[in-house]
Amino acid sequence: MTERPTTEAPQVRYELAAPKVARIVLDRAEKRNAQGQAMTYQLDAAMRRACHDDDITVIILAAAGDHFSAGHDVSGQRVAPPTSAERVSLWGEFGGPGWESGYSYEKEVFLEMTERWRNAPKPVIAEVQGSVISGGLMLMWMCDIIVCSDDARFRDNTGSDMGVPGVEFFNHPYELGVRRAKEFLFTGGWLSAADALACGMVNRVVPRAQLSANALDLAVTIARTDRFALKLMKESVNNAQDQMGRRQAMRTSFANHQIGHQHNMLQYGYPIDISRLPDSVRLKLEQALKARRPQQQADGTTAPGKIA
Ligand code: ZN
Repeated sequence: MTERPTTEAPQVRYELAAPKVARIVLDRAEKRNAQGQAMTYQLDAAMRRACHDDDITVIILAAAGDHFSAGHDVSGQRVAPPTSAERVSLWGEFGGPGWESGYSYEKEVFLEMTERWRNAPKPVIAEVQGSVISGGLMLMWMCDIIVCSDDARFRDNTGSDMGVPGVEFFNHPYELGVRRAKEFLFTGGWLSAADALACGMVNRVVPRAQLSANALDLAVTIARTDRFALKLMKESVNNAQDQMGRRQAMRTSFANHQIGHQHNMLQYGYPIDISRLPDSVRLKLEQALKARRPQQQADGTTAPGKIA
């Protein structure tokens, strides 16, 4: 059993940016804000704090450093499962045998958690700079309004580089439109800030130096609107999108994502096809997963490495 480290550095910061405005900052710049389990549960705690604080009306989600997020943490590091108090679903069995562990982890940490944040009742503005890759898109897409800098760029390379059919929170068709979503997924190529604005994936593109001020100005403007009216408007728009099939479609996409992981397990022994990853990433990952194998054999699990 892996012990939970007691001296984990915080990976999420919580600030009061202005009256009625909370600013939550992904604070793992040295890892380009890669999202692992620790960041996920710290972000959830920050979202819970802002949503439960009657003095907060609007939330900004920002990120420290040059890049909003490099995606999910693929370091392959083994971490202790979240405590019962931290978990948000009743699914459980993070340490189960076969694919039960991997499925349970992905279902809560990547799918249901993102869905929960997407449905947070208070408006959330994403403040986005630099690169946003794969899992990083999920952190941005769960927000209601996206303000990005002119140097922002976006890609989902799970299909093109890792043999997994798109990230877990599969919102691509609703963010990009059907045709652009397919090109985005099939090629794994970069979408520029200007193109993201043109297809409606972001609300505003501003110079990098003005990004934080612009997001804050928008948050302060929105915070003048009645908080309860904001909650009801957000719920109405979200429900309208769900009536268009978003939630139902995402269930199929998540199942396909799991088929992708299983296929890779059968083909390569890993939940992703690592053969196309850069050597620097692949070799480290192989080492980390190799080191954990004897323990897995001893405890009868095939925990997949919590990746992609
Ligand atoms: Zn996955």
